[in-house]
Formats: sequence, C-alpha cells, structure tokens
Amino acid sequence: MKLTNINKTFGNKKVLKNINLDFPTGKTTVLVGPSGSGKSTLLRTLNLLVTPECGQYEFEKQKLDFAKKISNKEKIFLRQKTGMVFQDYNLFPTKTVLGNIIEGPTQVLKEDKTHAITTAQQLLQKVGLADYATAYPHELSGGQAQRVAIARALAMKPKYILLDEPTSALDPELELSVLKVLLQLAREKQSMAIVTHNMVFAKKIADKIIFVENGEILYDGSPTEFFDPNNPNQRIRNFISSMT
Ligand code: ADP
Ligand code: MG
Repeated sequence: MKLTNINKTFGNKKVLKNINLDFPTGKTTVLVGPSGSGKSTLLRTLNLLVTPECGQYEFEKQKLDFAKKISNKEKIFLRQKTGMVFQDYNLFPTKTVLGNIIEGPTQVLKEDKTHAITTAQQLLQKVGLADYATAYPHELSGGQAQRVAIARALAMKPKYILLDEPTSALDPELELSVLKVLLQLAREKQSMAIVTHNMVFAKKIADKIIFVENGEILYDGSPTEFFDPNNPNQRIRNFISSMT
C-alpha cells in the first residue's frame, strides 16, 4: 500500500506535510519519532479513521483520492484489509475472548459461526492463549488482552495489520509475550505497520524504518543504516540515544 502527497491539518496545525510512503507487502514497516510528530495520524489514515484533506491512497487495485468523497463501500473494504490494534486493546468487555474474536468474522464477513469458532481457536493457539476462550477481558493481564486483540485483528483476514504502540501500556515482562507474537508474525511474512518507542524491538523486527518528525518523513530506509552509530543525520542519532 502506498500514500502519495498526503496533507492533514487539525485546526490550523499542519500535522502531515506532503507525505509519500510505501508499505511493502509481506514486510514489517516500523514508524518511530517523537510524541506528537504525526505517527498515529499516519497509521489512522491507512485505516481511514483519519481523512486527510488531500493526497492519494493506493491499496492493491483500489485507488483513493482524498480530495474526493470516499464511499462507504471503499471505507468498509479498506477497514477490513487493514486491521488496527490499539494501545489499550479496545476489547468488548461483555464478551468472552472467543466472543471478541468471532464478532467481526460472523457480523461483518458473514462467516458461518462454527467455522469462525474453529479459526478463532487456531488463532488463540497462535498467540499462546488456547486455554482462555471462555475468559472475559477483565480476567486477563494486559499482555494477554493485547494478544487477544491481535488474534481478533487476524480473524478478519486483513492484508495488513496496523499496530499503534501495542506494548506501551504494558510492564516489560508482559510486553515480551506480545513482542514474541509480533516477531513470529513477521517471520511468517505478515504485512505490518507498527508504531513503537521500543528501539530494541524496532531494530529486531523492522524490514523498513520510517522516522517521522513534525509531520515530515526524515528517514525512510533500512534499519541497519538507521541504527548505525555513525548515521550522518545527527537528529536521528540524538533521537535514538534519547530513546535507549
Ligand atoms: P504521535 O502519534 O506521533 O504522537 P499524533 O499523530 O497523535 O502524533 O498527533 C500529531 C499532532 O496532531 C499532535 O500535535 C496532536 O496534538 C494533533 N492531533 C492528533 N489528533 C488530533 C485530533 N483528533 N484533533 C486535533 N489535533 C489532533
Ligand atoms: Mg501516537
């Protein structure tokens, strides 16, 4: 998927300034940068939770022009293709873990319930929570809740998974359980876009790093070059050392 000439303003603040970005299929793209730089706005644009004033969004054969009205059909299609995982999990509190995972597939994709349950159980296995199908969100640790949220996103068979600071609400030992699941997904070539402040994790998982500052892309390239202690860009060197 690809963004071209994206501009977004909130009030009179330019939050995204003519952004051009490519998110390669089968790869993990990691977005880093200071707070308030526009990372969440970028990720939310990919999921159409944010609508820029202008710019183009290319997703497979679908081409959107943000200067024109986006139809509901286009919105529904792209939301299903780009599963979002939020920092605070956003699970349905009155539904069990299984209920949370089968909700989208049965209600939106109109999958047969038995089939949806079988898939959900496989996904729970994958995220290391096979025994938690009947648990309720309040009975889970933060790390478990976030892994359910990832399973729920995967159940919609998205092409991309978008994760906005997926572990920043978690203690380090719980964080690890989530990072392991994401590293496994990356090994399986799941297309992902992840915003994170965890530089060790970013270095480990990224096929591509994007550094956002003040609504602009200051770096778009390989993690090796980005994390190189001799990176010629002093702004990047300072950022990395302030984060680690
Ligand atoms: P990041 O995720 O990098 O911390 P954001 O994309 O959340 O940055 O925010 C970028 C800028 O846009 C910030 O100045 C933020 O205050 C502003 N912003 C984000 N969302 C909104 C909104 N819904 N209304 C007004 N301003 C917003
Ligand atoms: Mg953010």
